[in-house]
Amino acid sequence: MATTDESARLFDRAKVVSPGGVNSPVRAFRAVGGVPRFMAQGAGAYLTDVDGSTYVDLVGSWGPMLLGHAHPEVVAAVRDAAGRGTSFGTPSEPEVLLAEEIVARTPVEQVRLVSSGTEATMSAVRLARAATGRDLIVKFAGCYHGHVDPLLAEAGSGVVTLGIPGTPGVPDHVAADTVVLPYHDREALTRVFDEMGDRIACLITEAAPGNMGVIAPEPGFNAFLSALCRRHGALFISDEVMTGFRVTRHGQWGLDGAVEGWMPDLLTFGKVMGGGFPAAAFGGRRDLMEMLAPVGPVYQAGTLSGNPIASTAGLTTLRLATEEVYAGLQAASTTLQGAVAEALTAAGVEHVVQSTGTMFSVFWGPDPVRDFAGAQAQQTWRYAAFFHAMLDAGVYLPPSAFEAWFLSAAHDGEALSRIIEALPGAARAAAAATDP
Ligand code: PLP
Repeated sequence: MATTDESARLFDRAKVVSPGGVNSPVRAFRAVGGVPRFMAQGAGAYLTDVDGSTYVDLVGSWGPMLLGHAHPEVVAAVRDAAGRGTSFGTPSEPEVLLAEEIVARTPVEQVRLVSSGTEATMSAVRLARAATGRDLIVKFAGCYHGHVDPLLAEAGSGVVTLGIPGTPGVPDHVAADTVVLPYHDREALTRVFDEMGDRIACLITEAAPGNMGVIAPEPGFNAFLSALCRRHGALFISDEVMTGFRVTRHGQWGLDGAVEGWMPDLLTFGKVMGGGFPAAAFGGRRDLMEMLAPVGPVYQAGTLSGNPIASTAGLTTLRLATEEVYAGLQAASTTLQGAVAEALTAAGVEHVVQSTGTMFSVFWGPDPVRDFAGAQAQQTWRYAAFFHAMLDAGVYLPPSAFEAWFLSAAHDGEALSRIIEALPGAARAAAAATDP
């Protein structure tokens, strides 16, 4: 087995100067155990760690790396932009071009660029509250919208990976303004909106949940949410930070809203649109967006918002992400989903592979998962064994059973073969794992 000495040394040093040795909790490998790999280099579908081991990467920086690592055209554009200055604190051309690209691909009329998905959802909620003059937020258990105080209640992603209960640090009066409901529960939604609809500012949902594993919304569910909000004068916020420019060229909205003929009031974006740099956005109808300063009274700002390098990286990525790229990603995703299912079936491991567009994940149990309770019921302890067997075979998976697996356009036949060859051994390791 490859050595991890250098990663271990760096991790020890990191733990002295940073809480848990990381700058985002899931990176610490707490859910799977072992030494987090400190990566030194990324190229296409591959990551190389500081000990010199190379892995096929299925994390893709948690979604942004749609084209793979260090895509030559993205790197060249970034180098060029950096040579002209890294931040001006003034408007600049790349941010206009990026905003135009987002407006062209999605149902938003205007966008405001920010630096993280967290900022995007936080700002969208503020705008919704200002537009409606109401305070309450409705969200779904298991959906993660960044570490925004009122949105952390029963959140997915790292919050569920680490089993963090509730929202320590969030005042009760803040949490009290958030109503958390089970995903897909139309009855509970109808009841809550009937009871307190005139106090609800917005309903926010992941356009397709990806932070409790991937759950495709049942046909018509997002349309139902949109109609419910409209009926009660609340705003419908579709969080496409993960799905945007990932599941299709037009995000999850390309799979449902565009087909069914409805639109969210506000959308949030991040990840792919930054091309690996800190860039995110929220957008929507012009009348709503122009409530923001400097046109309207709702304050929202950022020193590095619309940063020229991040905007250039995002713009270059989106321009290169053509329909052919998404078709290739879809084919690779379908191949890999089939291979995972085949290996797990052969090893006798109960599982369900779920997907929306190009994005997928594996649930470790017998039944399809449609909500957070289902996601939590899975045999997550099988995942640690599977994860480490894949890692030892040179495949880097997300270090948590609750995360999506991300492919890139750089995952060619060779990269897929490396993953597929590793699967039978990892499936047997999952089969042999015991519930601790
Ligand atoms: N919304 C969704 C759906 C996400 O998946 C994430 C991050 O994973 C966020 C918001 C927060 O984005 P960021 O980590 O850039 O703050």
